[in-house]
This record gives sequence, structure tokens and C-alpha cells, in this order.
Amino acid sequence: MQVSEDTNDDFLFIDDSGEDEILDESGGEIWKVLIVDDDPEIHSVTQLALSDLIVLGRRLEYIHAYSGRDACKLIEEHDDIVLVLLDVVMETDDAGLNVVKHIRETLERSDIRIVLRTGQPGYAPEESVIKDYDINDYKTKTELTRRKLVTTVYAAIRSYQQIATVTQNRIGLEKIIGAAAHLLELHSVHEYALGILIQLKLLCESKSSVFCARGQGIVDGVDDLSLYILGQDGLSSVLINQKLETLKNNEASERVASCYQQKQNFYSPTCLALYLASGSYKSVIYIELEQELTEIDQQLIEVFLTNIAIGYENVHLFQKLRNAAYKDWLTELPNRLEFVNLLDNFGQNNSDNSLVAGLIDINHFSDINDGLGQDLGNQLLSAVANRLKSLGEQCQFARVGADVFGVIGPSEKVNPENLTALFNQSFSAGEQHLPINVCIGLCSKEDAGSRGVNILNQINIALNLAKKNQLEHFVYYKKEMEEETLWRLGMIRQLRTDFAEQRLEVWYQPQLNLTSGKVIGAEALLRWRTSDGKFISPVVFIPLAEYSGLIIEIGDWVVNQACKQIKRLEEAGFDDVGISVNVSIPQFRRVDFVETVIEATKIHQVEPKKLELEVTENILMDDPQLVIDALTKVKAEGIRIALDDFGTGYSSLSYLQKLPLDRLKIDRSFVCDITKPGKSILADTIINLGKQMNLRVIAEGIEDEAQQEHLKSLGCHEVQGFYYAKPMPADEFLTYLRNHQ
Ligand code: C2E
Ligand code: MG
Ligand code: MG
Repeated sequence: MQVSEDTNDDFLFIDDSGEDEILDESGGEIWKVLIVDDDPEIHSVTQLALSDLIVLGRRLEYIHAYSGRDACKLIEEHDDIVLVLLDVVMETDDAGLNVVKHIRETLERSDIRIVLRTGQPGYAPEESVIKDYDINDYKTKTELTRRKLVTTVYAAIRSYQQIATVTQNRIGLEKIIGAAAHLLELHSVHEYALGILIQLKLLCESKSSVFCARGQGIVDGVDDLSLYILGQDGLSSVLINQKLETLKNNEASERVASCYQQKQNFYSPTCLALYLASGSYKSVIYIELEQELTEIDQQLIEVFLTNIAIGYENVHLFQKLRNAAYKDWLTELPNRLEFVNLLDNFGQNNSDNSLVAGLIDINHFSDINDGLGQDLGNQLLSAVANRLKSLGEQCQFARVGADVFGVIGPSEKVNPENLTALFNQSFSAGEQHLPINVCIGLCSKEDAGSRGVNILNQINIALNLAKKNQLEHFVYYKKEMEEETLWRLGMIRQLRTDFAEQRLEVWYQPQLNLTSGKVIGAEALLRWRTSDGKFISPVVFIPLAEYSGLIIEIGDWVVNQACKQIKRLEEAGFDDVGISVNVSIPQFRRVDFVETVIEATKIHQVEPKKLELEVTENILMDDPQLVIDALTKVKAEGIRIALDDFGTGYSSLSYLQKLPLDRLKIDRSFVCDITKPGKSILADTIINLGKQMNLRVIAEGIEDEAQQEHLKSLGCHEVQGFYYAKPMPADEFLTYLRNHQ
């Protein structure tokens, strides 16, 4: 519809109707116009003049104010007024201008159009007012013919609508920019999908919407080419990760499929299918509309889609990165980093106190890996991961280390019985069926800290104890363990520095021939005197030295000290006194252990037979063959071997027979009660066993004469104990020898 300026101006109140070209079919909507004039007649003629006018498809509706004050009130009450036809002079000369200020300054309404009218030319406002207050037109009433009024009103309303459109566009664009910024913060595909649907709801009133894409690589365990629902709004959350068909909406299925294939948006009055793609990531958003979209809405949606498409690709790339950072590539389980995050949740989840978190460590996995190859090792790990999953969906799993798995779940699922049962049957990897044993560290919610890293540490403490535990292969974390660990670490630190500062000493406890009473040798025993002069018992610090590996260096040093001592004794004329040195398991794990011992005898030029290594039965527990091989080599050099604390360990006799032994040492526990009726039977058995195996037998821990006599009657060869002498420093031992010649 067009309005042309007519040069043939008529006076306002002269009827010049018949300008049908400016009329249009009217819809239901209206433009609200406020007529402000203190002259009632102006109201009626204005209304009359504009009575049939339809502007941009809408009729006009009028409200009337007869003073500036009334006008202000009405404008506040009706926020849909688009145009004010305003008399300048009313109750005061500037009443109209006050209304203008009220609209623009107080109400900050810049969209309402204003046409000023005045009866007399002399009341024209300043030009600056017209500019500053964005006045559409200023006319004297006599200037306004009907045609002119219509043209003015028409232009004003059109300008209103343009402003409204721009404003609406601006709001829409602001929403898009805001949405894009918001969406940038979402890093999972599912969150992103939902974020987009929510933003779209703001752009077009949607009843419901779904976000669909191929599930491959996004939905766990899916590798077909069907379209899956990744996000929904206004429907049901159970639809997430389900095939689009579960929606049971044929129209949706068809629209989405064709949109996906044709790569084109589809608009209808009731629904939309929008194609969102960037790089190789494609998706379709299907929306059921509350009401039909305007053209502007459509344009905004297109702008929105172009804006966010790149973000959709990014979110996939981000997910891939995340997977690389947080997933174990082999088993596809969460990795250690992610397990720490899961433990964070576990620690902060206060609603469920029955939860338990644990670590499961496969025993001797490296043997399988080394022996059967990495491929088989990998297959085995995957098989373990799958077996773990059978604990159920309430549990979460992770691969925390090469052969360590993490688990979190309710205590009725995650407990030693269930976890152990998982490993009762062997695992198939390739052609092999491999039996597996595990150690398990557990921590229940009530004992757990709140931060994931701490909890992991707590479970680790329990796991380490489980590995050492010889009776049971699982341990629950308890608070005291941590205190103990801290204490232990402190002690190890102190031991390390004190060893470096040469605060460790080797003392000697004499060993005597029971028949002749002659000193035949001594046992070298470590002493640790700390800087404050206190002695810490070897019973306390030897296990710490073993645990920390320090025993390797310390043990080396003891062997060398013992060799030096043998040499000194020789030089002092004691040619037939040997020294026994205690050796711990970790020392055998050192590849050159045998060589270092032999080397020590050579450096100090001692006869190998004067050096004896004392090993306990437990040394055979872990890796018997390693120990047997090492001792056989040592023995071949002529160095002697004694079995310490005999009778207290768990080793099998068949292994003991393979040890190249020279002596059996009867543990102090069998000696202390030996004089009580019926209590000597074990000592007796050991002595007989020794004799049958052609070994010498030495009893240790003899504290009184009665014990000595009893041992003598049983035929024991040698003795060592406080009854004869306590362990003493090297120099004192020399004096002792001189006094006991
Ligand atoms: P062990 O090898 O069985 O040493 C004998 C322990 O019994 C020594 O304790 C000794 O002082 C103590 N003992 C000897 N006679 C008697 C007695 O009549 N009555 C009583 N009540 N005790 C007696 P110590 O010196 O405290 O050593 C404890 C353990 O520490 C040793 O037991 C040994 O297993 C370990 N150990 C000591 N020195 C070394 C070392 O250099 N290397 C390694 N690996 N372990 C060592
Ligand atoms: Mg010993
Ligand atoms: Mg002993």
C-alpha cells in the first residue's frame, strides 16, 4: 500500500474521503493511537478523519486524553500505544511538551511516535525540541487536511514498526550472541544439544524439540547409522540416547531424515526441521511450534544456526580431547585422571553413605605381559574390564594404572566377596585361559576424605597393605593407617639421612660351640642410634628399610663391615671366627647381589667360608627360584648359608630342601619355653631335622643355664644368646674374644 503526497491540500475538516488506495484488509490486530487535546471536538474530527484507515494491515484504535496530565497517565497504563497525536497548548502553554519529556525522559520510551499539533502558529516548539525528542511531525491544526493527517499518521506508524523490528532484531541478535557465548561453555555433546534447544525456545516459541544425530562415537556402544536423540526439551529425559523412532512421531522421523539427507532447513506453520552441520558433524533439530514463525524469526534462526554450527564441531573435538585425556584407550574405561574426578563426586556425595570405592591390582601381571607378550596382556586387561562391568550399572569403573582397576559403587556390590568372586574363574585371552589373583584396597564413604586425590591415596594405602597381607588379599582403609603411613615416611626419611651421616653401626653377638664353649663366630646386627642418642630397634627399622628399598644400600654396607671385621679379627689372631650377616628379600632382587657379596670378600681379602648369610624362610615366599639360584651361586664361592628363625615361617619343606644350607637357626620362641614340660618338642624336631639334612644347628635366644643344658641334652651344636653375651660394638667384641680364649 502506498501513500502519495497530495499537493491539493484540503482543510482537515473538509471531507476528502475516497482515498481507498490507502485502505487495506484488516486483521485482528490494531495500532493504538492516543489523541491528546483539550478541545473535545478535535478528538471527534480526528477519529472521524482516520476512521477507515488501515495501516500496514491493522486498524487504528483510539484512546483519548484531554490534558497533559491525563495523557501521561494513559501512556503509563497502555504500553502498546504506538502514536500520540499531541496538542501543544492545553492546561498550560507547554503541557504538550511536558508530555513529550515524560515519554522520552521519564518513561524512556523511544519507540512511541509523536505528532505535535497546535492551534496557533505562534506556539511552535523550538527546532531543537523536535530533534532532541524525536518528534515525527509538527503541524498547525489548520495545516492538517484529512489527507495530510492520514499521511502523517501512516508515516509515523510505519516508522514505529521499523523501530520495533529493529529492536526485535537487536534483542534476537543479542540472544544469539548470548547463546553462542553460553554454548561455548558447554563441553559435552549432550549439554550442547540441550543448550541449543533452550536457546531456540527463546527464539521461536517451541512446544517441544529434539536434537538428533548419528549415535556413533557419541552414544556408548552404538555403531549403527541410525539417528539418535541427544537432547530434548518439553518431552521426556528417557528419550536421551535412544533412537529417534522411540519418539513414535512419524512426521518428526520423516522430517528429520529428509532434512538430514537434503541438508536443508524445513519450515512449516507447525514444525521446523533445522540442519546443523560443521565439518563432518551433522545433526538435525526438530521443533514443534506453538505458533507460526514470522519471517524475522526465520531469519534470526538462520543467523543463529550459522553462529553455533562451528561450536557444534568444537564440542565434538572437545569431547575427543576429553576422551583422550580422561579415557583409557584400551578398555575405554575412565582413566586415572577421571577416576580422581569420580572420587571427587564420591567424596562429596553426602546422600549415599553406603558407597565404597576400591582399587583392584592384578598380581604378577608383568609376568604375563613379559611371558606371553603385550597383545595377550592387553586382551587380558580388556577381559578383566568386561568382567568388572558385570558388577552392575550402579557401579563405576576405571583403569587407574597398567594393571590396576578402580571401582566405585554401593557396598552390597563393591565388597571383597563379590570382587574376589569375579576372579574365581580364569580369563580367556587369545587361546589362553589365564587364572588371575588380585589384591584389593577399599575405602568406604564414612572413612573417605572429601577430595578425590586424597581418597585415591587412602585406597592406595589400603591396597599396599593388602599386598603385604599374607592371610587376606583385601584391606579396608582406616584413618589410623594414614597416621601410620606418615609416621613411616618420616622414619624412612630420618633413616636415610642418618645412614648417609654414618649413624648406623654394626654390633656383634657371639656364637659359641655348645660342647667346647669356644666362640666360633658372631652375628652382625644393625644398630641405629639417632642424633638424640636413642636406639631404634631393628625390628622397627629393618621393615622400613626393606619397604623403602634402602635395605639394599644398607645391606651392602653391613656385608662390607662384616668382612672388615673378619679381617680385623684375623689380624688380631682370631683365625677361626666367622661372621653371619642377615639378608632381606629386596637384596635378592638386585641383579648384581651375588656379585657384590663375592666382591666384598675379595676386596677385604677374607676367606669366603668365614662369611655366612642368614636368610629367613619367608624369603622363599615371593620368588623361591630367584633366591635359590642366588644362594647356590654364593654357596659355590664357599660363602655359607644359614636358615634364620627356623620354624616360624610358612615355607614348604620341598623348597627348603633346594636351599644350599649349612646351618639351621632355631628361633628364640622355641628356646624360651624349652625347659617347660612338653615344650621342647619343636626344638627337638628341628635339631633332628638338621642332623638328618646334614646341617649344623644353632639355637638363639638362650637366656639361662637351664635352657643351655636342655639344648645340650637334645644334641644342639651351637648357641647364641644373652646368657653368653648381648650384641656389642666391634671393639668390645674383640675384647670379649680376648677374654674368652
Ligand atoms: P635375628 O636375625 O633373629 O637376630 C636375633 C635377634 O635376637 C637380635 O635382635 C638379638 O639381639 C636378639 N637376641 C639374641 N639373643 C637374645 C636373647 O637371649 N634374648 C632376647 N630376648 N633376644 C636375643 P635385634 O638385634 O633386635 O635384631 C632383630 C632382627 O632385626 C634380627 O633378627 C634380624 O632379623 C633383623 N636385623 C638385624 N640386623 C640386620 C641386618 O643387618 N640386616 C637385616 N636384613 N636384618 C637385620
Ligand atoms: Mg639373624
Ligand atoms: Mg633369628
